[in-house]
Amino acid sequence: MLGTTELLMQDMRIPLFAVLVLFSITSLVRAVEKPFKFNETPGKLPKTVVPTQYSIRIVPNTANFTFAGTETVKVNVRAPIRQLLLNALELKVDAASVDDKELPASAIKIDKENELLMLTLPSELAAGDHTLTLRFTGKINQQGQGLFYMHYQEQGSGARKIMLGTQFEATDARRFFPCWDEPAFRARFQLSAVVPESWLGVSNMPIESEKRVGGGKEVRFAPTPPMSSYLNVFVAGELDVIESQIGPTQVRVIATKGKAELARYALEASAQILRYYNDYFAVPYPLPKLDQIALPGGFGGAMENWGAITYFESTLLFDPKNSSGETKQGVYKVLAHEMAHMWFGDLVTMAWWDNLWLNEGFASWMGSKCTAHFNPEWEVWLARELPRDPTRRSGIAKEAAMEGDARSTTHAIQHPVATQAEANSAFDDITYKKGQSFLRMLESFLGEDVFRDGIRRYLATHKYSNTTTADLWDALSESSKKPVGEIAAGWTEQPGFPVVKVKREPDERVRLTQERFTVNFKNAPPLLWKIPLTYFVMGEVPATLLMAGQASELDNIPADRGLKLNINGAGNYRVEYDAPSWNLLLDNLPKLAVEERVNLLGDSWALAEAGRAPVSLYFGLIERLPASSDLTEREQIIEVTDFVNRLLIGSPQHQKFQRYAQSLLRPTFETLGWEPKAGEPLSAGTLRASLISILGDLNDSEVITGCRERFEKYVTDPASLAPDLRRAVLKVVGRYADEKTWERLHDFGSKTTSIEEKQDYYNALAEASDPKLVKKTLSIALTDELPTSRAVFLVSRVARCSGRPDLVWEFAAKNMKTLLAKTDTGGMNRYAPGLFTFFSDESRAAELKAYTRRNLPAASAPEVAKAVDEIQFRAEFRKRFASQLNTWVENKNPATAR
Ligand SMILES: [Zn+2]
Repeated sequence: MLGTTELLMQDMRIPLFAVLVLFSITSLVRAVEKPFKFNETPGKLPKTVVPTQYSIRIVPNTANFTFAGTETVKVNVRAPIRQLLLNALELKVDAASVDDKELPASAIKIDKENELLMLTLPSELAAGDHTLTLRFTGKINQQGQGLFYMHYQEQGSGARKIMLGTQFEATDARRFFPCWDEPAFRARFQLSAVVPESWLGVSNMPIESEKRVGGGKEVRFAPTPPMSSYLNVFVAGELDVIESQIGPTQVRVIATKGKAELARYALEASAQILRYYNDYFAVPYPLPKLDQIALPGGFGGAMENWGAITYFESTLLFDPKNSSGETKQGVYKVLAHEMAHMWFGDLVTMAWWDNLWLNEGFASWMGSKCTAHFNPEWEVWLARELPRDPTRRSGIAKEAAMEGDARSTTHAIQHPVATQAEANSAFDDITYKKGQSFLRMLESFLGEDVFRDGIRRYLATHKYSNTTTADLWDALSESSKKPVGEIAAGWTEQPGFPVVKVKREPDERVRLTQERFTVNFKNAPPLLWKIPLTYFVMGEVPATLLMAGQASELDNIPADRGLKLNINGAGNYRVEYDAPSWNLLLDNLPKLAVEERVNLLGDSWALAEAGRAPVSLYFGLIERLPASSDLTEREQIIEVTDFVNRLLIGSPQHQKFQRYAQSLLRPTFETLGWEPKAGEPLSAGTLRASLISILGDLNDSEVITGCRERFEKYVTDPASLAPDLRRAVLKVVGRYADEKTWERLHDFGSKTTSIEEKQDYYNALAEASDPKLVKKTLSIALTDELPTSRAVFLVSRVARCSGRPDLVWEFAAKNMKTLLAKTDTGGMNRYAPGLFTFFSDESRAAELKAYTRRNLPAASAPEVAKAVDEIQFRAEFRKRFASQLNTWVENKNPATAR
C-alpha cells in the first residue's frame, strides 16, 4: 500500500531498547526470528478454526449509505470448540447458523473494543469441516475505510456522480464482512454484489456471471486463490475501461467515465512492468486479469488488492498534453511498486504485521529497481520521491528514512505489533524506505544475479502461503552461500544505523571505526552492525569489505589519493572523513560521479544536523562543486535550502540566508533559463520548476515578477505555460497572493475537472502567508470542495507552506472532530501530532503534551513522541545554524565563493 499515511505524515514508534541493549557493543544483534509456522504466528484469533472458503453477497444502498450482506464460510475446526471467534467492526450481525442450525440471538455477541464477533455454540463442535452462515448489515463510509463512497464531477458533463470502493489494509476487511481478518488466515473468497444496471462492478477476479435482480443486477465474481482477507476489493460505478492482453493476462485500466484515455500511459507502463516481473520472479503473474483502477477520492494513495489495484486517480492518470513530467514519473513508480506486491505481498504474504516490511520494503525496492531499469534518465535512486511530500525534509527515500532512523523515536524494521492501531501505524518510513535501502545494500553486496536467484527460490517455495523475514534470509543464504541472516539481523532487528569514521594513519593505513549515528538523541544505546562496506581509491577498481566489528583497517591507501566509501551511496550508513581525507575528496570532486557527490552532500548535511560537523562543511562542499545542471545534485541543495529557509522564518538571519542561498542557486537557473528548450532532457524541466519554486520562496524579486507575468498569460492562454512549470508558477503566485489573486486561484481550482490541475491550484492556496488568506484556505478543509483525503492534507500543507503553523493549530484544534471524520484509520493518533512537527518553539512541545493528555488515545504516544522530538530538534538546530551561518558567510574566502 502507498497510503494516505505515506502522503500525510510519517510516524515512528518507541523502540525495543530494553531488549536491544543486551546485544549491544560486545556482540552483534543475532537473528531471533523463526521461519513461518501458522500455529506460532502472532495474532488475536485462535488458530483452532481455519476458514477455507467464503461466499459473500453484498447489497449496497447508496441512498442511506448502508449495505446488507450474507456470507457462507467453510471452516476447518482443528480441535473441538464451544465458541467461534472472528473479526467484525461496525457490522450488525442479525443471524448466524452453524451447519444450517440457527443460533439464538443471545448467542451472537460483538466485542466492539476488540473488533470481534463471538458466537457461542449450543454444544461442542467436533473437529472437522463445518459451515458458518451469517446475515449482517454495515455502513458505507465517507472516508477510505471498509466500503466507502466517492462523490465526483463527471468528466465532460460535470454532473455530480457517486461510486463505491473499498480499502481494507490493514484491518478493515472486517468492516465489510465478518472474517478471520489476520493475514495468516488465507482462504478463497467469492464475492457477489448487487449494483445498478449501468454500473461496472470490479473485484479481484473476473466476473463469472451477471443476472438481473430487483434494484439492478447481481454480479458474481470468480473465487480467488487462497489469499489474506485484506487483499479483497470491490469497486463499482459508471466506469470506462481500456485494456490489452499480455500473454495469458488481461490488463485493464479503469477510470470514471470520460477519463479512460488519460489511462493510456498507465496501460502501456503496466504491460512493460508485467513482462519484467514475470521474468524476474520466474513465477508468472498468477491471476487471469490485472486491473488498475483510478478512484476519484476516498483515499490518498494506492492499494495492492490482488488482481485489482486501486489508486487515487491523480497517481494513475496522465494527460500527455497537460500533465507534468513529474506526474509521469510518479505514475510509473506507483505502478511498479503496486505490481511488485502482486507477488510480494499477495502471492506470498507476511505472516503478521510485524513483518510488514517484507511487503513494503520489498515492493519499494523492486519498484525502484524496475523503474530505474526502464528509465535510467530519471536517476531513480537519487531522485526525490514524487510528488514531493511537504512533511518530509528530504524527498530521497534513503535520506528520508535515515532522518527518522537517527532519532530517539525510531524503531527496528521488524517490531512487535499487537493492536489494530499498531498495525495501521506500521506503514511508515522505516518499513518502506529503510526496508528498501537495506535490500539495495544487500543486493549490491551479494550481486544482482545471486540476489534474484534467492528471490526466485523464495517465491517458488512459499507461493500461496505466508512467510517471515527468516524465510527470505534462508532463501538468499542458500543462493549466495553467505550468512545473510547474520548480516541482516543488525539492520532489521535493531533500530538506527551506523556512521563509519575514516582516519588516515601512517604507513598508508586507513583506520575505520563504526558507531551509532544519532540526531537529537543523547545517551543513545550503543549498537554495532555488520556493514557490507563498498569503497574505492581514486583511479582504482571498487572493493568491498564486510565490517563485522567496531574497527577495521584498510591497507595500501596512498596518503595523497582520494578514498571514497559507500559507492553510489547505496549503503545505509553515513561516512565521516577526517580532514586529510575530506580535502582529498574536495580536490577530486570534478572526477567523482554525480551519485558520489550527492552522497557526500547528504552525509555532510546530516553530520551538521547531528552536531558532528559545522554547517560550513556542507556549504564549503557546495561552493567547491563543479558548475552543473545535474538534477539530483541540485535538488539536494534545494531541499536543504527549503528546510532552512522555513526554519529561519522570523529570525534576524533569515534575509542573510536568503541572499546567500540565492547566490548558490541562481547560476544554475540562469543556465537553464525560463523557457524549456527543444530536446532537453526531462530532468531539465523538473529542475527548472524546482529552482523557480525555491527562488520564489527565497524572495527573489525577478522570479516572483516572472511568475506573476506567466500566470496572467496562462489565465487567458493555458498553452502558454509548459505543464512542468505550472505547479511552480502557481505556487509562487500563491505565496505572495493578495486577496484578489487568492480568489482567482480558488475560482480556477474549484472549476477545473483535472485532478492534477486542481491540486496545483489548491497547493498554491496553501502557500499564502497573509494571515487572513491562511484562514480562508484552512476553511476549505471543512467544506466538501475537495475529496476527504485531500481536504485534511490541505491543512497539513498550510501548516508547512504558509509559515504560520500557529494559525493552523488554532484552526485544527477548534475543528478537530470534523477533520478527523475525513481521515482514515489511524488518523486519530497521527493527525494532531503531525501538525506540531512544523513548530520550532519548545513551548509547543509542552502544549502538544497537554493536548494529548486531554484528547488523544494512548495509541497516539509514538506519534506524539516523534512530534516533540522534532520540535526540540528544530529549536536547537535553529539557534546553532543561525550562529554558524554568520561565521560562515562573513569569514569565507571570497575567492572560493561562486
Ligand atoms: Zn506498498
